[in-house]
Amino acid sequence: MPEINIIGGGLAGSEAAWQAARAGVAVSLHEMKPERYSPAHKSPQLAELVCSNSLRSDAVNSAVGLLKEEMRRAGSLIMQAADASRVPAGKALAVDRSRFSDFITRAISDNPLIEIKRKEVTSIPPGGLDETITIVATGPLTSDSLSKSLAQLTGEEYLYFYDAIAPVVLAESLDMTKVFRQSRYEPPGQGDYLNCPMNRQQYERFVEEMLAGEKVPLRQFEKAAYFEGCLPVEVMAERGIDTLRYGPMKPVGLTDPATGETPHAVVQLRQEDIDSTMYNMVGFQTKLKWNEQERIFRMIPGLENAEFVRLGSIHRNTFVCAPKVIKPTLQLKKHPGILLAGQVSGVEGYVESTAMGWLAGVNAARLALGLEPLVPPPETAHGALISHITNMETKNFQPMNVNFGLFPRLGKRLPKRKRGEAYADRALKQWEIFQGKPFPPAE
Ligand SMILES: Cc1cc2nc3c(=O)[nH]c(=O)nc-3n(C[C@H](O)[C@H](O)[C@H](O)COP(=O)(O)OP(=O)(O)OC[C@H]3O[C@@H](n4cnc5c(N)ncnc54)[C@H](O)[C@@H]3O)c2cc1C
Repeated sequence: MPEINIIGGGLAGSEAAWQAARAGVAVSLHEMKPERYSPAHKSPQLAELVCSNSLRSDAVNSAVGLLKEEMRRAGSLIMQAADASRVPAGKALAVDRSRFSDFITRAISDNPLIEIKRKEVTSIPPGGLDETITIVATGPLTSDSLSKSLAQLTGEEYLYFYDAIAPVVLAESLDMTKVFRQSRYEPPGQGDYLNCPMNRQQYERFVEEMLAGEKVPLRQFEKAAYFEGCLPVEVMAERGIDTLRYGPMKPVGLTDPATGETPHAVVQLRQEDIDSTMYNMVGFQTKLKWNEQERIFRMIPGLENAEFVRLGSIHRNTFVCAPKVIKPTLQLKKHPGILLAGQVSGVEGYVESTAMGWLAGVNAARLALGLEPLVPPPETAHGALISHITNMETKNFQPMNVNFGLFPRLGKRLPKRKRGEAYADRALKQWEIFQGKPFPPAE
């Protein structure tokens, strides 16, 4: 019977093991706990939730709710566990974390096709572990020796050790009567950047609010990453009232067409996707709490009604430069017998990591069975996420949460409350067709 190896028994690795076993393929699942723990993992169980117990919105007309619905329809073990261990949380899907991990650990342990091997894997040969199809799902805190081995496989320059994520806004939510297009020192109206101009008063109030805003405390193991890389915007602000005006908010070489003058400061927005549906706030990586980010960043002229599809963060994180390194099937371009899943593949979040585990499990099994690996259609939440991470511009690659800005545009303009429904209807129709392909529907 064909066998595959999966390294990492977290959310992605457990989901991948389950999907491969459903396809009749034997799996060795390698998990380093309890022999070794990352700085955030504490429990010996599989699929441990290291922080929040929420898998975010469960509404199908939200992008993350849709991603979950697609997984439910595709027989996801993680979704079965989440539904069975649900705790009240309004429209969100929150779980009792120990029941959740117990459910998954039991299901995997009881599966006759899956063998759990409790030992750290320290290297991956180019042909995969034991020369078999291998999935790497070792997560944001991949152990050091395996990180080194992964860097050798992918190319040192394409493996990163922390993410410094700046918020992303939907283009259609910008007030273009205030925002102007210009790249530094280029003629007004031209260039790649959108600029949100501020006068002195607006700038000083903005800095004050950032300084006072509530922040997420840094964990001990995150500190090194944070000092070696780009600083959070609020830390720059602490260094003096003008520090940001000489950093990410510098206005030189820009002229506001409304005044004909150089603004006191600007926030620059850079296109995030090929269709220019989303813009990234340049240099605005931050540890401000999410609700504080929305409140404070909406003080920026032009962003008063901004819809944030991603909020800023800074994390210790091991991930590859997905557009350079992986195919949309999650296979490494250079070593197609090795697949990446979960956070290392360049997505962000529990649900997104699980979704990549689902696809890696399906594709690893297909490869082991001599079948072609699959790519979900881009209209689905799975497909939109994969298409985004594998097509993004390499230079600015940062991990991504699922959001409707990643989906191909709808043919028509709809009010915001109808948009989610329209994306979900289209996605689920495509998902049903795609579902005919991997393996039989959920039992
Ligand atoms: C501190 C922290 C907090 C986070 N909080 C949230 C949050 O609140 N909400 C959210 O949506 N996302 C959060 N994330 C992001 C991310 O979604 C989760 O980390 C998620 O668990 C990733 O899933 P995964 O399967 O890729 O990795 P993990 O769930 O981390 O699983 C990886 C597994 O691989 C094992 N492993 C590592 N190296 C080896 C090795 N060499 N050999 C064998 N086994 C190995 C680990 O022990 C672990 O069990 C957080 C990340 C971090 C680091």
